[in-house]
Amino acid sequence: MHIIWRESANVLAYEAGRLSRVFNQRCPSQFPLAIVKPTTESEVIKAVNLALQHNLRIAIRAGGHSFPVWSLHDHSILIDFGDFKVVEVDERSRTAKVSPGVTSKELNDLLIEKHGMMFAGGHCPDVGLGGFLLQGGMGWNCRNWGWACESVDALEVITTQGESIICSSQQNSDLYWAARGAGPAFPGVVSKFHLKLRPYSNSGFRTSGYIYPCALYKQAFSWALRITPTLDNDTEITVCTRYAQAHSQVCLSVHFVCAKTTPEEAEAALRPVHETRPPGTLSEWYCREDNLGNLYEKQAKANPKGHRYRTDNAYVQNDADVVAVLEEAFLTPPPGKSFAFWSAMTPWSRRELPDMALSMRSDHYFAIYAVWDDARDDELHHSWVQKVMRQIENHSVGTYLGDSDLQKENARYWTNTNTTRLVEICEKWDPEGLMCRYQASCTELQLRN
Ligand SMILES: Cc1cc2nc3c(=O)[nH]c(=O)nc-3n(C[C@H](O)[C@H](O)[C@H](O)COP(=O)(O)OP(=O)(O)OC[C@H]3O[C@@H](n4cnc5c(N)ncnc54)[C@H](O)[C@@H]3O)c2cc1C
Repeated sequence: MHIIWRESANVLAYEAGRLSRVFNQRCPSQFPLAIVKPTTESEVIKAVNLALQHNLRIAIRAGGHSFPVWSLHDHSILIDFGDFKVVEVDERSRTAKVSPGVTSKELNDLLIEKHGMMFAGGHCPDVGLGGFLLQGGMGWNCRNWGWACESVDALEVITTQGESIICSSQQNSDLYWAARGAGPAFPGVVSKFHLKLRPYSNSGFRTSGYIYPCALYKQAFSWALRITPTLDNDTEITVCTRYAQAHSQVCLSVHFVCAKTTPEEAEAALRPVHETRPPGTLSEWYCREDNLGNLYEKQAKANPKGHRYRTDNAYVQNDADVVAVLEEAFLTPPPGKSFAFWSAMTPWSRRELPDMALSMRSDHYFAIYAVWDDARDDELHHSWVQKVMRQIENHSVGTYLGDSDLQKENARYWTNTNTTRLVEICEKWDPEGLMCRYQASCTELQLRN
């Protein structure tokens, strides 16, 4: 296994390894002492043993997309899963064993083309399954199909003692519990996820979209909230605002992704939406033939690479006046690529949750993405995010790890009971703190609140 040691490596090769696939250009100045790119499970075990031998902490990179760039730490060995790509599909049981460095798009390209199936992974094509699944995973149609981690049947994990184990509801069930929502607090190295898959049909995959000027914010967003409870079960609904150059103003788009088996079913699902939309759209499309590949392309454009990102989010209280609470956040994105979005989480948010670490939720998920490319504009974008999130804070019941950059001291990522249990599991499986301790800072901060 090739090891890049910082002290002896060529500077350019080291930097290429340090920043490989790192998405957020607002990246911490942290320098691992060694970088390894395993290609097999036994090399992952070797990497863990190397850390033990040299008394180094372990940092992990799967897809490199965490906003605070959790994979970069001083005094660590960085285990980068970028060259370890395994997907083993069992069509009969509709399951797959997948390594953490595989991205949502890579997995779905293969599943759709060869097997007529999909996995409800992240919306951005290049997000790695490792970080995405461990923090819960708000995948396609989360409001109905649930969190992606609910489709994890089992995991293969290398412990901090370098042992390979299986975690499921039957074996090492405490680690299985933690793996569904702990995010960077997970006290081990996952080498494979065992996933449940869903059927996929291009012919029933349709989208509708309605773009409104900001003057119609209240009408359009109130309509989206009103229709959500009666909306079809295979349809995702998102409301997003950004500054639209073409219209010289902030515009609001209400977007529906419908994943049915036939075009007729998709039309029946989207027709009531179309018939009740408020007038005044700047543009719209209805029940358009679409596919996951197209949506990934659009997501990649909306979340461009090579930019600086600052994100924050909130689960807004169910009984809040959501339209009023989010008004400023929605209507003030600065000109450029920044945006804010709301995702409907009902009916999932009202269902009984499986017993797992992931525990924060409400009917309304709101996230803000400040996107820019010049470090001189950092302050402008930080202050926009801080200002609008301060107004939402009093109406927030919790924070999602995925769209968080861990800068908020009072963020609640888990319920208190789950935080306590997670801390106990971390202490049991990683008593020496071998894994890099972003986890300690989140859990300790939360326990202090
Ligand atoms: C453009 C963009 C769009 C996004 N869209 C969505 C979305 O639709 N839904 C959603 O839920 N989230 C979304 N996210 C958030 C994203 O899921 C998280 O940032 C996630 O952490 C990224 O996973 P990664 O593997 O790419 O990140 P990495 O930075 O590689 O990993 C993050 C951390 O996860 C842990 N980890 C990863 N792999 C392992 C492993 N094998 N063993 C142990 N620990 C591990 C480590 O602590 C690691 O540092 C989006 C992010 C971006 C940048």
